[in-house]
Amino acid sequence: MEKQYETVIGLEVHVELSTESKIFCGCSTKFGGAPNTHTCPVCAGLPGALPVLNKQVVEYALALGLAANCQINQYCKFDRKNYFYPDNPQNYQISQLYLPICHDGFLEIQTAAGPKKIRIHEMHMEEDAGKLIHDEWDDCSLVDYNRSGVPLIEIVSEPDMRNAQEVIAYLEKLRLICQYLGVSDCKLQEGSMRADVNLSVRELGSKELGTRTEMKNLNSFKAIARAIEGERARQIELLEEGRPVVQETRRWDDNKEYSYAMRSKEDAKDYRYFPDPDLPPVRISDEWIKRIREAQPELQEEKAKRYMEKYGLSDYDAGLLTQSRHLGEMFEKTAAICQMPKKAANWYIGETLRLVKEEGMETEDISFSPEHLAELILMTDRGELNNKTAKEVFRMIFTEDVDPVVYAEEKGLKTVLDTGLLEETVAKVLEENPDTVKQYLDGKTKVTGFLVGQIMKQMKGKADPKQVNQLLSQKLKEAGEKA
Ligand code: ADP
Ligand code: MG
Ligand code: ZN
Repeated sequence: MEKQYETVIGLEVHVELSTESKIFCGCSTKFGGAPNTHTCPVCAGLPGALPVLNKQVVEYALALGLAANCQINQYCKFDRKNYFYPDNPQNYQISQLYLPICHDGFLEIQTAAGPKKIRIHEMHMEEDAGKLIHDEWDDCSLVDYNRSGVPLIEIVSEPDMRNAQEVIAYLEKLRLICQYLGVSDCKLQEGSMRADVNLSVRELGSKELGTRTEMKNLNSFKAIARAIEGERARQIELLEEGRPVVQETRRWDDNKEYSYAMRSKEDAKDYRYFPDPDLPPVRISDEWIKRIREAQPELQEEKAKRYMEKYGLSDYDAGLLTQSRHLGEMFEKTAAICQMPKKAANWYIGETLRLVKEEGMETEDISFSPEHLAELILMTDRGELNNKTAKEVFRMIFTEDVDPVVYAEEKGLKTVLDTGLLEETVAKVLEENPDTVKQYLDGKTKVTGFLVGQIMKQMKGKADPKQVNQLLSQKLKEAGEKA
């Protein structure tokens, strides 16, 4: 019988923190400055410069650790990881090996087979490296140290994932937590979230772990899914041929859909780790942890649950509205102003998300004023705008954040609430369509749709459909009595 294999995956995820300044100096962490302008003797690795720990980094690590159900090492230390590479000016990276700030946590993900806990081995604080730019034009390599010293948290999972869906669910969960906490924006494409995939295969039912490889350079969920498929197939093929899987670091090439060996996997001992003598250990008091815990914002699951209870939204809708903290906050503002939460929810879930998709945006980047949408909802409710015009006006709110009252006034979009004019128009349409009226009186009530359409057309779309329907049925009734 053919052998069956199981994939085993553990992730090492680096998250770039959204602090103002770097982890061990006061330089800016802003992305995209002119090369080497966000640097100082500390992050440029000049001899004799001394690092000073940024307190915010510890607070972010604690917040993330608590949200991921971790234990805290209240006495934690920094270690030097020694290696030479031109993007690493000190010739060592300050990281944590022996006493990382957080350990033994878990995140719960949803899988096809129900909820599943993915254990977290540890989380530690460390500094990012600079960036090498290989300039083929001038045939030289350049280095930019702006990123050197930007704070990172590395989150190391246990090998608990079994397929790409679980990996993506785990990363999405982690990203959502980071975003809600304001710890990081976690954009894979921009490198503020980077996931290394450790993968091995073993015969189904086996208790022992197979030899793993580590894959780097994965900058989208799609690339991650393809890399997992590709590496699983490669390893199974080796095993089927009776050849060993070599423990190594591989680079995934998403264009060629194949991974290449980068280097044989180094062990901790290769880095000659030792405690950093320039940084004192960090003592984290019970009070400090308590303060962080109390300041923790409402996370996605709690928020979704509250929306279901408070606003009577469905599970699905609450999930859509809480897909980013920003979107949820906008929805709540709009709902509070117009006092119509269901309608507000529908505008966000429907038109807003549709336009976000159409524009290829992220929900984080929605920038119209929630007040303007609230105003639009109120106008629609008062019958000043019909649904069709409301959608037109909303597009202008979404793209240019116009004030709907001013905009509708200027463009003459408001519904004509002049009953006299509407009555005239209804009468005129009935007169022009005697056959249709006859059909109606013969019991074909469906034809009212046609009549409403004609009336709206003559009103140039600026009539309140509710009012039109009322008047029309009244007039038809009168016509019936006459006949
Ligand atoms: P190292 O320190 O050498 O990088 P770790 O023990 O820290 O090794 O593991 C790194 C990552 O690899 C962790 O996420 C872990 O879950 C995962 N991992 C370890 N062994 C395996 C294996 N046999 N198969 C799949 N993943 C593994
Ligand atoms: Mg490791
Ligand atoms: Zn600096």
